[in-house]
Amino acid sequence: MTEELIAEVFSDSRKVSRFLAQKDPLTILSKILGPSFDEYRLKWHLARSMQKIPAFPLHVDYELKRECDLRCPMCLARNPENISDLELSPKTVKDLIDLGAASGQASMGFGGLWEPLNSPDIPDLVAYGRSKGLVEAMFNTNGLRLSPSVSRELIKSGLTRIMISLDAATEETYKLMRPGSDFKLVENNIHQLLALKKALNSPLPLVRVSFCLTSLNETELDSFIERWREVVDFISLQYYGNFNTQKSHLWPKLGQVPPPSGKCAQPFKRLSILCDGTVLPCCDLSGLSFKIGSIYQNYPGSPFNLGNQDNQDNLGNLGNPGNPGNPIKLGNLGNLSDIWTGELMRDLRERHFKGGDELPKVCQRCQAKFQPDNF
Ligand code: SF4
Repeated sequence: MTEELIAEVFSDSRKVSRFLAQKDPLTILSKILGPSFDEYRLKWHLARSMQKIPAFPLHVDYELKRECDLRCPMCLARNPENISDLELSPKTVKDLIDLGAASGQASMGFGGLWEPLNSPDIPDLVAYGRSKGLVEAMFNTNGLRLSPSVSRELIKSGLTRIMISLDAATEETYKLMRPGSDFKLVENNIHQLLALKKALNSPLPLVRVSFCLTSLNETELDSFIERWREVVDFISLQYYGNFNTQKSHLWPKLGQVPPPSGKCAQPFKRLSILCDGTVLPCCDLSGLSFKIGSIYQNYPGSPFNLGNQDNQDNLGNLGNPGNPGNPIKLGNLGNLSDIWTGELMRDLRERHFKGGDELPKVCQRCQAKFQPDNF
């Protein structure tokens, strides 16, 4: 079953983020959240299909801190040089939420490529954003700090989706995929969250568990599915992404990831803000090469500090300067609206609209184009 399943999932990008669901998550959310959700999803569809660019990003990710308890082999946190003391303060995030809520933003995410629950402010920030009219709030987590008391706060905050990265069906494999974590504790945290939702009579947040396919865990995909398919709202099967995929020992033998398609819709619908204020046009690891501006006026140094595209992989150093190669032009810095409508974003969108050789080199290699963030 496994090979057929992988082929099916990777043949349709929309199946990557929710390939197995008890019920379609979007239908459930539409029922719960009402017309404002439908309106947002229509705009999302128009942006995703490059038919209409919204006046402001529909979704913004906030990287509150750059730290994690774990050192997983497929993650940036594996390299200690990438850990940072910098923080996007709760006050700054609230200011950004105010700006977004007044400008057409509909959805927010926390953590970016890092663990959001290392910040104690998440429930407060979710509640703030929802109270300001943002329709959706979500994040990925390793689940280690998802204690029953945190779960209770998150349910009350109005969080709409929580995506928990497990990647294993047995403790033995989990230790390889998620070194430093605790398999039984995390599984128990998920079950407690589900029980609390029931006890509080809350359909939200929808709960997803995810499985990132690598050489370390590929034999467990079937048992992972059996373990969770009747338990959570939906399951995600993700491919292992790495600039140097051909060299990586993590590359799975099963299910070759198809070559990336020619275009990416991320710059048409979303932005990411890093803990140092840097703004990126997408949420993928590859997007770290595109520092298109800063939320702070006094941006230190060049705003377009591309990493070395020949050497960079996902264990690389975030601060690695290098040869930009086929760079897009400098844009307009300032607040998020200026960045969103600035020359850099316009140029990047134009290149993705045309596709092919027009794409920046990083985008040509980036496999996120196959998985255009279909949450
Ligand atoms: S192709 Fe990759 S790097 Fe380029 S905009 Fe899309 S997600 Fe970002």
